[in-house]
Amino acid sequence: MKLTIIIPCYNEQEALPLFYKEVSKVLSDIQCRYELIFVNDGSKDDTLAILKQLAESDSHITWISFSRNFGKEAAMYAGFCNADGDYIAVMDADMQDPPSLLPKMVEILDNGDYDSVATRRLDRKGESPVRSWFAKKFYNIINRISDADIVDGARDFRLMKKEMVDSIVQMSEYNRFSKGIFGWVGFRTYWLPFENVERVAGKTKWNFFSLFKYAIDGIINFSQAPLSISSWGGVLMTFIAFLLMIVIIVRKLVFGDPVNGWASTVCIIIFIGGIQLFCLGIIGQYISKIYMETKNRPHFMSISRAF
Ligand code: UDP
Ligand code: MG
Repeated sequence: MKLTIIIPCYNEQEALPLFYKEVSKVLSDIQCRYELIFVNDGSKDDTLAILKQLAESDSHITWISFSRNFGKEAAMYAGFCNADGDYIAVMDADMQDPPSLLPKMVEILDNGDYDSVATRRLDRKGESPVRSWFAKKFYNIINRISDADIVDGARDFRLMKKEMVDSIVQMSEYNRFSKGIFGWVGFRTYWLPFENVERVAGKTKWNFFSLFKYAIDGIINFSQAPLSISSWGGVLMTFIAFLLMIVIIVRKLVFGDPVNGWASTVCIIIFIGGIQLFCLGIIGQYISKIYMETKNRPHFMSISRAF
């Protein structure tokens, strides 16, 4: 049995040595063959130099280095394409995915009832209430309108059998949203809860707006519901306009009351204009995804690697 661990790294010079030490200790206790694939996602600090140093001293380590920052999704994809273990895991370099969970995860897959062990954090300690509220709403919405089954608090940290990873590699779409892809491919998944851990060193690469954008991307990638909502919105507005027309005609005929009200007309025009722009925006979001998808660009450019 061979275990492959994929670690996307972007500016992780402080966390890397700590992570390496901890994960090596846990893996040598499991006593199986293993490889660590570090993906340097265009870091601007000394991450690559540290990786090269580690690779020289430890033959379990391989690395790929991108020509610029392509994002964690691309880094995970590069790892999946190059992983050849029987069990394959993705982990963050900042120890927010505790290496101490690995033996338990391997044991669950060994038992044979599951193809993948996914992790979810139980709490959101150290996170602002506003961010937690938006996160909760996001999980509510996406589960209701898409067939990607996403658990609240799910992390990207999972251990999967090779067959599942092969299916994920087959999903070669350019706009990647792994949380959705993991659910979409199916397979029997065991959910392992754990207490939230804060980053050991370095800084998170996410702020509120990048997370918000990520959430919208997730919805657009896995659901057509926003398009249906805008169409049904159009139908509803037409119906209301029709009713109002009848009311105005009847009022004129019965009471001879000419319609006045410049202000209300302007309000209605602005309101409808806003809704139209909003719906156009939704369509635009989908078109921009199609545009990027049809370009068929590679997910990443790697400039150097050691295998
Ligand atoms: N990461 C990456 N490319 C990016 C951003 C992040 O490879 O553009 C890596 C990062 O080095 C870390 C993991 O993805 O190993 C998770 O990043 P981070 O800790 O910033 O996210 P958070 O845990 O705050 O959600
Ligand atoms: Mg983190």
